[in-house]
Amino acid sequence: MAVLVAGGCGYIGSHTCLEFLEQGYDVVAADNLCNSSAESLRRVEELTGKKIPFYEVNVCDRAAVRPIFENHKIDCVIQFAGLKAVGESVQKPLEYYQNNLNATLTLCDVMREFGVKRMIFSSSATVYGLDNPIPYVETMPTGECTNPYGWTKVMSEKILQGVAAADPEWSVVLLRYFNPIGAHESGRIGENPNGVPNNLMPYITQVAVGRREKLSIFGQDYPTPDGTCIRDYIHVVDLAKGHVAAMEYAMHHTGTEIFNLGTGKGVSVTELVETFEQVNGVAVPHVYVGRRAGDLAEYYANADKARRVLGWQAERSIADMCRDSWNWQKNNPNGYSNEKPL
Ligand code: NAD
Ligand code: UDP
Repeated sequence: MAVLVAGGCGYIGSHTCLEFLEQGYDVVAADNLCNSSAESLRRVEELTGKKIPFYEVNVCDRAAVRPIFENHKIDCVIQFAGLKAVGESVQKPLEYYQNNLNATLTLCDVMREFGVKRMIFSSSATVYGLDNPIPYVETMPTGECTNPYGWTKVMSEKILQGVAAADPEWSVVLLRYFNPIGAHESGRIGENPNGVPNNLMPYITQVAVGRREKLSIFGQDYPTPDGTCIRDYIHVVDLAKGHVAAMEYAMHHTGTEIFNLGTGKGVSVTELVETFEQVNGVAVPHVYVGRRAGDLAEYYANADKARRVLGWQAERSIADMCRDSWNWQKNNPNGYSNEKPL
């Protein structure tokens, strides 16, 4: 049994490659390295003692993708390949629509040619938009996103639902991730953002390791107990395991299914920073500043469906997430690069 992991060198992709290998599946990876390094896969090979055939290709390029399917018997595609910076998507909408939609369209087109009809897609809690009550349930309406990145997820979900509706042999699993943080417990792979991190945890770890002076906490006047925003943080290893469960489900079912991958528990920004400091015994200097445009006060998953249908649930705690994020960052202060700190 082999899976093709598109975007396999990235943060979630590399952890997912490792999890599939550890559970006895063969993995083939494709990535154009636009936001990652092939060093992540080399380390996954080192950790597992297994080889990953790697194709450095843009998955929007049909001619470059076909040889993967000619050379390997792929049973399922795990589709991570996409651009993911919300703010950048507002500045570069065409690049986001072109890359994120064409990546999925091209993969599906080549899959159809080779008779491969199972896809697990990386969607996001952002598809719930602005108006749904919390906790988010899979049956809620999607749409009304505030940025092109979010719309690419809404549109990709619709495209894949259409593909599965048109051919009853297809199996599509849409996984809506909440906020993945943490790293593999070895500290060998982890999140490695280019430039200034947009997301909270990599910013925290870069402050803790001395690459940045202090964390700005965006907003202390939200209608939450401590005034800071609440999110559903999920350990990336739990998330990776969710993909194996989703693939196993797709092997035995057709049609489209949607699952939230979250813990079902909300944690505030201040709580996350304080837990990180306590668990790791390291200071994270921070200041409270104004709200960041577009942030919702609070959201978290209803995670019941994944537990009921996939038999999967998140097992790792916020303390585990903080410990593992720090273990990765302190052992790799510059991520996968050997350069001196910025
Ligand atoms: P990432 O940037 O680390 O990984 C994405 C990978 O895809 C990168 O290695 C990048 O080089 C590759 N890629 C992008 N476009 C490509 C293309 N056209 N051809 C080949 N490779 C391409 O991001 P991640 O955090 O691992 O996220 C993986 C997926 O999960 C993305 O689709 C993202 O939108 C989605 N997601 C992430 C989060 C999160 O908070 N990290 C939340 C919800 C959804
Ligand atoms: N956040 C923050 N400072 C930062 C980055 C993020 O206070 O430098 C806050 C952000 O306002 C949000 C939460 O942390 O409330 C999670 O943000 P992130 O960008 O990680 O994920 P999002 O929930 O936006 O997808």
